[in-house]
Amino acid sequence: MPMLSVSNLEHTYPNGHKALKGISFDVEQGEFLVVIGLSGSGKSTLLRCLNRLIEPTSGTIRFEGADVTHIQGADLRKHRAQIGMIFQHFNLIPRHSVEQNVLYGTLGTAVTLAPLFGRFSESAKQQANDALRIVGIAEKKSVRADSLSGGQQQRVAIARALMQNPKLLLADEPVASLDPATSHSVMQYLERINKEMNTTVICNLHFLSLVRRYATRVIALRGGEIVFNGSPADITDEWFRHIYGEDAIEVEIR
Ligand code: ADP
Repeated sequence: MPMLSVSNLEHTYPNGHKALKGISFDVEQGEFLVVIGLSGSGKSTLLRCLNRLIEPTSGTIRFEGADVTHIQGADLRKHRAQIGMIFQHFNLIPRHSVEQNVLYGTLGTAVTLAPLFGRFSESAKQQANDALRIVGIAEKKSVRADSLSGGQQQRVAIARALMQNPKLLLADEPVASLDPATSHSVMQYLERINKEMNTTVICNLHFLSLVRRYATRVIALRGGEIVFNGSPADITDEWFRHIYGEDAIEVEIR
């Protein structure tokens, strides 16, 4: 049984725009799946349907065999608790410390209200410390989040997601605001988490050189439809033009 099974997924925005037009694919446990495609092709909409930040219009999403397409309430909270998400702009609370930001990753799974008032257990603090160590910035735990570089902030956001012990990590353009050198550093941490903790990753990326380096499989979207589903090694020049258009030129990021 695949970890995730998406079948005929459609999403139409309230203004009538069809962003996803019948998407079907499976994801196996342990994959590092990268979603590519031009800006506006539906990548972000797809990721947000998976953790139900966006409500699918039709189709089915199954996670570990269970139909999660329209679940609500406690079932939806349980589903979201298993899925970490990181964003292009990190979404940290700038004036709060690195450690606090990481601890906020427990809010989705907390059993008491104490964390809402900034009171976290010693075990949560220990877990935050461990998560920060995994992304190599444990020594920064007391500084304000906004005093860090972009790459460091994204690593804090990854640590925050790790607090959920996620089975699946969604990353929506995680390196789009970063410079090339920093991009690799962030991608390498995602790769380590994928390989060493066996966390399945689904990641939207722009640069094909990053895709070739980190993806175990690639899905390409064009106009809300899947036009490629396969190995990164199989994205030939011809496929590149099919995915990105005849006028597109590949830009290398090293
Ligand atoms: P990508 O992540 O590939 O850039 P998106 O999923 O953000 O693509 O968007 C897919 C399409 O849906 C785009 O054409 C975009 O303009 C449109 N879209 C995104 N959000 C909305 C919205 N809230 N209302 C209407 N259209 C939207």
